[in-house]
Amino acid sequence: MIEVKTPDELQAMRAAGLVVARTLAAVRAAAKPGVSTAELDELAEQTIRDAGAVPSFKGYHGFPASICASVNEQIVHGIPATTQVLADGDIISVDCGAILDGWHGDSAVTLAIGKVSDADLALSAATEAAMWAGIEAVSAGGRLTDISYAVQSAAERAGRDDGVEYGMIVEYGGHGIGRQMHMDPFLPNVGKPGKGPRLKPGMALAIEPMLTGGGGETRELDDGWTVVTADGSRAAHWEHTVAITEDGPWVLTAAEDA
Ligand code: MG
Ligand code: MG
Repeated sequence: MIEVKTPDELQAMRAAGLVVARTLAAVRAAAKPGVSTAELDELAEQTIRDAGAVPSFKGYHGFPASICASVNEQIVHGIPATTQVLADGDIISVDCGAILDGWHGDSAVTLAIGKVSDADLALSAATEAAMWAGIEAVSAGGRLTDISYAVQSAAERAGRDDGVEYGMIVEYGGHGIGRQMHMDPFLPNVGKPGKGPRLKPGMALAIEPMLTGGGGETRELDDGWTVVTADGSRAAHWEHTVAITEDGPWVLTAAEDA
């Protein structure tokens, strides 16, 4: 069963999404060489709580922080730490979730710290483009894997343009979202179109491709959370929470002026 929201409930999800957008904007402004990921986490938690919301990641299956901070070869679920200090040339994926009035928002960005290599900038841009291609494929009456196909095709297209074969992470993907963060359905980031459940107005999905500069194999660190590339290549992760409406996709975690 996929949760279907009323228009008023989607407005409530938009309010939660805006808290996430503002939090990621604050983290983006603070993410500089010399800053630890623990400091970014503290800023994120404060921003979320100041908005009257609750950080959804904190305590989720025991996760200890309000953001996932995944640096360089870390793909997702990195735990913020005082010992993880950002350096010039790093890339960091920041994933953030907030609950407002019982509704969830979930979004991630990849940020460049100082002067980053052209390859890493292209990797992040390719991942963001794949996310937007997925968002544009959201259509009432369409099928779930239309999104998967659009994400995969955009990632492959970006790779051809960049002269790189980006690694695609297939073990992790998008998901339904609403009164809980992770709901049905699982949304694969690869696949043929025209399969899976039919999309209806009032459904909401988190669309979140992850690409690497190498292969798609992953490994989990001993901390039980951090997922890294098996080959040590760098990874990027972009995510938005998107509602399906009669008029097309509504990006609930976009910034106000977007
Ligand atoms: Mg997320
Ligand atoms: Mg998510």
